[in-house]
Amino acid sequence: MTEHDSLRPTGQNDALPSEELVGVVPTSGPLVDSYGRRIKSMRISITDKCNFRCTYCMPAEGLPWLSKADILSYEEIERIARIAVEIGIEHIRLTGGEPLVRRDVPELVGQLKRIEDLRSVSITTNGLLLKQQAKALAEAGLSRINVSLDSLIREKFTRLTRRDQMERVLEGLEEVEQYPSVHPIKINAVAMRNFSEAEVLDFVRFARRKAYIMRWIEFMPLDADQLWRKEDILTGGEIQAMIEAGYGPLVKIEGDPSETARCYTFSDGIGEVGFINPVSEPFCATCDRIRLTADGQLRTCLFATTETDLRAVLRSGGDDEAIATTLRRAVWHKELKHYIGDTRFKRASRSMSMIGG
Ligand code: SAM
Repeated sequence: MTEHDSLRPTGQNDALPSEELVGVVPTSGPLVDSYGRRIKSMRISITDKCNFRCTYCMPAEGLPWLSKADILSYEEIERIARIAVEIGIEHIRLTGGEPLVRRDVPELVGQLKRIEDLRSVSITTNGLLLKQQAKALAEAGLSRINVSLDSLIREKFTRLTRRDQMERVLEGLEEVEQYPSVHPIKINAVAMRNFSEAEVLDFVRFARRKAYIMRWIEFMPLDADQLWRKEDILTGGEIQAMIEAGYGPLVKIEGDPSETARCYTFSDGIGEVGFINPVSEPFCATCDRIRLTADGQLRTCLFATTETDLRAVLRSGGDDEAIATTLRRAVWHKELKHYIGDTRFKRASRSMSMIGG
C-alpha cells in the first residue's frame, strides 16, 4: 500500500473526492494523480491525418494538418514511451488521425515492444490499410487491435465516412484474423441515435460469428464541426436493451476496473459485447489514461482544455529525468472529470482526430 492508495477512487464519478488538487507532486513511486488514480495507459497519436472523413469527427475538407517538423519522430516517441514505462505506464495504444497512414508503423510497434516492462502495444485503426499491413504488424509484435466500424451497410458506411471503402475494411479484418497473436480483435462503433439502432443485432451476429469483441461507444462532443447534440446520443443502456430483447439477459464479465467498457457475454457463452458509456455513465473515477498528441502535447483527459508541451522539453535538450518530472507533474494535475452534461462542461481544446481517440 502506498501513501496514495487511501485516495484511490473505487467506483464511478460520485466516488471521486470533491476537493481540487491535493499535496505535492511525487518524485518517485507509482504514477498517480492527485486524486489517487494510478495511471497505466498511454495513447499515442502518431498522425493527425486521416483517410476517412467521419461526419462525427472531421469536416469533409479535412483540417489544417500539422507539418512534418511539428510531429514527433519515431525516435522521440520511443524515448517518451520508454521514460513513461520506467515511471509506471504499462500499456501503449497507437492512434491518430489514422495511424496506418503514417509510414513504417510496424517498425514503431517493434521499437516499442522492445521496451522492458511494457505489457502491451495495441492500435486503434479504421482498418482501411489493414490488409496490407496486418502481417507486418503481427510480426512486429502487435498485442491487440481495435477496428472502428460504424455500419455494415455499404451506403450507410459511405455516407458516414464519406469514403466508399467498407469492403476494404472488412478485408483488413479478415486478414488480421490470420494472425492469432494479435488478440483480441475488437470492433468499435460510435452509437448515434437514428443511425445505429437498426444494425445493433446485425453487429452482434457478425461479431459472434467472427469471434470479434463488439463495442459501442457513445457519441461525444468531440466533432470538429461542433454538430454534437445530446439528443444524438444513443446510450449503451439502450443498446443493451435492444440486444437483450433479441438474446435474453446478457451475462456480465468482470474485468479490470479501469476498462472503459462494461463487458458482457451471452447466455450461451458465445461472443462478447461491451458498452463504452462516457456520457451516460462516466468512468472518470477509474480512468488510468493519458494521451500524447502527434505534436508531442500531453493530455491528461480526452476533454482537457490545457496540454503539457513534452516536445519542447525533449527538443530543448531535456534529459530523461526532466521528461519524467514533466510527465509526473502533468499526471498529478490530471482533471477530476469531464463534466459532460454539467453546466461546468467545456469543449476540449481540440477535436478527436487532433487528440487521438
Ligand atoms: N482512425 C482511427 C480509427 O478510426 O479508429 C483512430 C482514431 S479515431 C479518432 C478513434 C476512435 O474515435 C474511433 O473509433 C472513432 O469512431 C472515435 N470517435 C471519433 N469521434 C468521436 C466522437 N465524436 N464521439 C465518439 N467517438 C468518436
